[in-house]
Amino acid sequence: MAYRIDSEFCAGCAHCIAACPFGAVEARGDALRTYYVILPEKCRSCGECARACPAALITFDGSDGSRPIARVQVDREKCIGCTLCKRACPVGAVSGVVKQPFEIDQSKCIHCGLCVKACRKDAILVEYADQ
Ligand code: SF4
Ligand code: SF4
Ligand code: SF4
Repeated sequence: MAYRIDSEFCAGCAHCIAACPFGAVEARGDALRTYYVILPEKCRSCGECARACPAALITFDGSDGSRPIARVQVDREKCIGCTLCKRACPVGAVSGVVKQPFEIDQSKCIHCGLCVKACRKDAILVEYADQ
């Protein structure tokens, strides 16, 4: 799963490349025109680029049946406070005390899902967005 840029209409403003925390946006083009593309192998589907694009040219590619994440939160019953999610989070949205349930700061979370992949206790609940 990944986001895609409709490159045909991309005006090359570069808001997307500035917004991506994962270096997944690359410039293409020539001396006459620069446009941007998303590298699927690097994209974490956080949607930061889509929110930054002033022309709304970036959309989620759900062709494999996947959906963008709307919200993640720690299941306090399952969390053992191992710190894996905190270490995986690229924006410092996870905090907690070792061996106690961790917490996710919703105001910082960019919905990349890396914490979900990192957790070995299936202790992070995911809500998906409708597209
Ligand atoms: S969805 Fe996130 S990771 Fe993917 S290109 Fe956009 S900003 Fe980068
Ligand atoms: S990785 Fe899972 S078990 Fe470990 S602290 Fe995070 S939510 Fe809790
Ligand atoms: S989804 Fe998880 S890893 Fe990604 S920003 Fe939110 S808390 Fe951090």
